Amino acid sequence: MNLAEYKAKELFYEMNIPIVKGITINTLEEIEGMNIEYPVVVKAQVQTGGRGKMGGVKFAENINELKNIAGEMLGSSINGFNINKVMIVHKVDIDKEYYLSVFPDRNTKSYVMLFSKEGGVDIESTAKSNPEKIFKIYIDPIIGIQTSDIRFLADKALLCGDLAKSFVHIATQLFRLCVNYHCTLVEINPLVITSDKKLIALDAKISVDDSAVCKFPEFVEYEKSLPKPLLVKEAALYNFLYIPCDPEGRAVVMSNGSGMLMSCIDGLTLVGVKVSAALDMGGGAVRERIKEAVRILLNTKNSEILFINIFGGITRCDEVAEGICDAVNLYGIEKPIVVRLEGTNKEKGYEILGQLNKIVCVSNMEDGIKAVKSEVCK
Ligand code: GDP
Ligand code: MN
Repeated sequence: MNLAEYKAKELFYEMNIPIVKGITINTLEEIEGMNIEYPVVVKAQVQTGGRGKMGGVKFAENINELKNIAGEMLGSSINGFNINKVMIVHKVDIDKEYYLSVFPDRNTKSYVMLFSKEGGVDIESTAKSNPEKIFKIYIDPIIGIQTSDIRFLADKALLCGDLAKSFVHIATQLFRLCVNYHCTLVEINPLVITSDKKLIALDAKISVDDSAVCKFPEFVEYEKSLPKPLLVKEAALYNFLYIPCDPEGRAVVMSNGSGMLMSCIDGLTLVGVKVSAALDMGGGAVRERIKEAVRILLNTKNSEILFINIFGGITRCDEVAEGICDAVNLYGIEKPIVVRLEGTNKEKGYEILGQLNKIVCVSNMEDGIKAVKSEVCK
C-alpha cells in the first residue's frame, strides 16, 4: 500500500524527521478564514509520484492564486488517481536538493540506503545519466544501522557540522521507520538544505508491505478512507478482485488465479497490447457471478476487447461458458470476447460458446494473445 504524502509525513513527524507542517483540504470552502503565510506550495494528495511534472505541485503567492490552483486540482486526476485532497504548505527556499531512501533488498537479505547528490529528479534517470552521484550502503537488519555508515554518505554530500549531525539523525530515523512499519520503501525526494541551512524532508513517500497493513490500526483506517474506483467496489460485491491497470489500455483480462492473470497481462504487454483492467475470479465462480464479471470488466473506460483465460479445476468451463453467454445475451454486449478454456468440462464449454458468433474461441494462451492483438490492431 502506498501512502499519500500527507499520511507519510505524519509518520515522518512521529519519527522526528523534520518536515514543513501543512494543512490538507478537501474543498475550497475550508480555506476561508484560514491564516495562511504566503508563498505556499499546493500539492495534490494522490498515491503516485512525479506529481511535479504532471501539474500536481504548484506555487501560489496569494489567496487568489491559491484558490485558482486548488480549485483546478480538486476533482481532476493524475495518472488515473482522482485528486480529492490537496496539501497546502509554506514554500521553502531551497539551497540544495538530495535524494535519500531505504528499502529491503531480497538478494542481500539486508536493507539498502540509497543516497543521491541530485534530488528532486527521478532516481532512475540519475542512475542512467550520473551514476557516480548515487551512493549505496547495505544495512544488516540484525546489526542495525551504524553511524559510521551514514557518516560516509554525509561526507559524500559534503555536509559538516550541524548539517552532518542532522543528516545522521534523519537517515537513522528513516531506517527505523522502514523497519518498524514493515515498509517496502521509504523515500525522501527531495531532502533539501534550506537557505537558512536546515535539512528538511520536502516530500515523503512510503510503501507499506500489503501483508503488514493489518498490524497497524492507523494503516487499516487509512486504507478504508481511500476512495476506491467504482468498478473495484462493484467487483468486490461479487467477491471479485478488479485491478485497474493502464488507463490508456484497450484490452481487459479475466482469469481464475492471480498468477495466470499476471501472465495474461505480461503476454499482452509483450506484444504491445496495453491492458486497462484485470479481474481475478478466484476459484469456483458460477454462471450468475461470471455474467456480472464480464459486465463489470467491459464497463471499464476505453475497453474494446475482453480476453478470458480459464484453467478449469473447481471452476467448471461449462459454467464459465454459460455465464459468458448470459452476459452477452442479457446485456447486449457487442465487443469481441476471446476465450481460452482448459480443464474440467472444456469440450462442453466450447460447445456452448459456439452458439455465439461474437466469441473467438482459442485453444491456448498464445493464440488468445495473438487473437486479441489482431482485434486491437484492426
Ligand atoms: P513529486 O513530483 O510528486 O515528487 O512532488 P515533490 O513534493 O517532490 O515536489 C516536486 C518538486 O517541487 C520538488 O522536487 C521541488 O523542486 C519543488 N518543490 C516542492 N516543494 C517546494 C518548496 O517548498 N519550495 C520550493 N522552492 N520548491 C518546492
Ligand atoms: Mn518528490
